[in-house]
Amino acid sequence: MKKNKRLLILAVALALAIAAMALAACDGKAQTAHTHNYVEVAANSPTCVLAGNSLYYTCECGRYFDANKNEIKLSDTVIPATGEHTETWEVDVEATCVRDGHKYKKCAVCGEKLDGEETIPKTGEHTWGDKLENGKAKCTVCGLENEIYKSENGKIYFGNYPQSEVDDAALIAELNAKAGEKPTLENAHGWSKYIKFYCEGEATFEEDMWYIDVEHGGNKYRGVYFLTNLYFAIWYHNNNSNQLSNGYEVETVYWFKWEPIEWVSVRTDDNKMTLVANLILDGQYWSAADDGYKNSNVRQWLNENFYADAFNDVEAKFILQATVDNSAASTSNPDNPNVCEDTLDKVFLPSESEVTTMHEDSFAINRKTTAYARVRGAYTVPESNKGLKKYHGYGTWWLRSQNATNATKITTIMYDGSILNDYYYRADGIVPALLLTL
Ligand SMILES: [Zn+2]
Ligand SMILES: [Zn+2]
Ligand SMILES: [Zn+2]
Repeated sequence: MKKNKRLLILAVALALAIAAMALAACDGKAQTAHTHNYVEVAANSPTCVLAGNSLYYTCECGRYFDANKNEIKLSDTVIPATGEHTETWEVDVEATCVRDGHKYKKCAVCGEKLDGEETIPKTGEHTWGDKLENGKAKCTVCGLENEIYKSENGKIYFGNYPQSEVDDAALIAELNAKAGEKPTLENAHGWSKYIKFYCEGEATFEEDMWYIDVEHGGNKYRGVYFLTNLYFAIWYHNNNSNQLSNGYEVETVYWFKWEPIEWVSVRTDDNKMTLVANLILDGQYWSAADDGYKNSNVRQWLNENFYADAFNDVEAKFILQATVDNSAASTSNPDNPNVCEDTLDKVFLPSESEVTTMHEDSFAINRKTTAYARVRGAYTVPESNKGLKKYHGYGTWWLRSQNATNATKITTIMYDGSILNDYYYRADGIVPALLLTL
């Protein structure tokens, strides 16, 4: 019994000692505990070759926590690399006008070369140098030459425009077949309506005059068709039509061949030449309002319609933008009040002073009309006019100069080369001028 008592005391003492130690340990632990200072580590997506991680927090105590602040191991945050490459094409050989290029697939992220390669077809688009040699442009990449203009018998041939009329009945039949159905007021059947004039930048259309361009046997032809005649003035509606007196009637398709435009080089300087067309190429109204050449219908038509029709992209590159002198000095009268500011144009009408200079330099200034200009209503001295036999085929054409005493009148060149004034709302002949790089 005594022995048991001693054992009990020993056990109690031991338990007390353990309890005391436990208390002491508990106190120690309370001293080292701290409030975690969570520092966020942003999520980072993995790439094909690099591991990423989910969002987690660290603390200076060296522990890691997930987004919900539950303690985790650092390895729990790792998102393994995907092994999935991001395909992209890498061009290692650029295609040129005459040489194929090459490209292959690679990973846009790690740069690894992947399966897949392709040939890039040659562009066929040449890079033309800035200068012409004997009328030819040269590609700076492959050296190919492209004839821009031809010089022959003192004339320059540059650009193309519908000009002479097709009179071969078999060819006319073939062209009519290619053109298909004639346009009607309800259905144009693929034909285009002519622009009548520009008014404040807006194009209005001929009510019933159409054209269509057709390729045939390596040549290009333009069909023209109308249901009522063009009047020689915009609002002067009677039957006094130059088209009729030129021999063109309603409800008939007439065909005109696109041919090189013949120009006279009236001046050469600073590596450029001033070209003036040697024929009257079209018939247009000068303007729809008396607000000067700058805002005239004819200027807009020349630089939009004629420019786009007559010259392809390569030819157009060699037409310089001219500063067109519209001052009083460009007219015959230095006190002319009917002038406007200078314009920047690719194509322009000659001025009265320029034509006077041409005349002094012994260039002819009267012009014959093309058949196409005649179907477009440009006045032409008819063969029936016996008194003007010498001038059969010659027409009248607009200058860009306005009359000094009457702003509604424009200086025109008559069939005999004399200068006259005509009302701006009439349709007269067009003899374009431009500056061409040499
Ligand atoms: Zn901590
Ligand atoms: Zn990759
Ligand atoms: Zn080339």
